[in-house]
Amino acid sequence: MPSSRAALERYDQRLWPVFKPSLVLAGGSGAVVWDVDGREYLDLLGGIAVNAIGHAHPVWVEAVSRQAATLGHVSNLYASAPQIELAGRLLEITGAGPGGRVFFTNSGTEANEAALKAVLRRPAPSGRGHRLAALEGSFHGRTLGALALTAKAAYREPFREFTGEVDFLPFGDLGALEAALRRGGLDALVIEVIQGEAGARPLPPGYLAEARRLTARHGALLWIDEIQTGIGRTGAWTAYLNPDLGGPLTGAPRQVRRVALAELARQADVGARAPRAGGAPDLVTLAKGLGGGFPIGAVVAMNGEVAARLGPGDHGTTFGGGPLAAAAALATLQVIEDEGLMARAAALGAAWREALARVPGVQSARGGGLLIGLVLARANAPAVVQAAQAAGFLINATGPDVIRLAPPLILTTEQAERFAAALPRIIQEAA
Ligand SMILES: *Cc1c(COP(=O)(O)O)cnc(C)c1O
Repeated sequence: MPSSRAALERYDQRLWPVFKPSLVLAGGSGAVVWDVDGREYLDLLGGIAVNAIGHAHPVWVEAVSRQAATLGHVSNLYASAPQIELAGRLLEITGAGPGGRVFFTNSGTEANEAALKAVLRRPAPSGRGHRLAALEGSFHGRTLGALALTAKAAYREPFREFTGEVDFLPFGDLGALEAALRRGGLDALVIEVIQGEAGARPLPPGYLAEARRLTARHGALLWIDEIQTGIGRTGAWTAYLNPDLGGPLTGAPRQVRRVALAELARQADVGARAPRAGGAPDLVTLAKGLGGGFPIGAVVAMNGEVAARLGPGDHGTTFGGGPLAAAAALATLQVIEDEGLMARAAALGAAWREALARVPGVQSARGGGLLIGLVLARANAPAVVQAAQAAGFLINATGPDVIRLAPPLILTTEQAERFAAALPRIIQEAA
């Protein structure tokens, strides 16, 4: 009996039955992984958009090993140099404004929890509770606050006793967004520029900039969940900065609400910044690709008003932003920059999508950069995933008729072509 089959039996006897793993992986290098039986696979899922620089990248291994041998954990009663440096890098790459600040977590859902606290910490207009809006098809995490923002009823409903009420607006519908804002009292709109769990579904052209304009006009925060799309995946540091995806959203919003403006005026250099069309989001959450495989998340309060909402005692974490995680993230950002991986994700992603869209049985290939959704002509995505695995490719079904690809950004052209060449046969075998 192959050792993976025996290991999976033990898995079933020992772990909660919430996942159904199909392989026991033992090692990896670049975009290739192998299982305990020694079979190799091309990893086109990248740990769900996590392994941005591939497996066991030497720069990452060196940085993590060195930090582990120096100082692994300190709690947040003490600071560390990697943490402070990483916060500076995140403020830079997100385009945060004056007064912007970072909070570190260990995962995406925790980053969203922290962002949610920043929304809730400012009292709602008298007599009314807080109101948040998210989009149909959204995924924002599994802990109870983030779960409240997750559209999928099957995930949320069993736990509704402890999740708040959120308005789920029709996807990509600006009229519905404006109507929700006009009703008044909306504290924040949470969006993904490309909905990852909905099968790499991008917002329609124009939605992003208009959502920024409308939320600013009506005094609601714009919170962009870049947990899956961020850290170079779409060809820019974040998807809202990507011109191909309706960006860039940068600078101060054209119309900030009065209270925000008053707070911002207290920040020393705000007057020097000319407001630009668009305007940066107010909150940005990051995780997945950030640590290159090491668990880390972050929420960036993009301006002083939002950053000042949480004070001493309002939030905390024992592990978040520890030196080991910060060193892993700094190495990941460095490799992305040094190896030109954002330009690579944009160029390879565009060419690959074109090639994949021509494969018989693929209706369309959507997404941005190396976050790709293949919409199949038939609702047999799980069977396609199985056939792909048998052929040596790891991919993932986000729904009955959509395949998601989120490979390491170091994927070679040859590897991408190899999958495109194999896909017709894989789809045939799944039929
Ligand atoms: C994965 C994901 C999350 C949750 O992140 P975890 O690290 O799994 O908690 C939240 N939002 C988006 C958009 C995601 O893709």
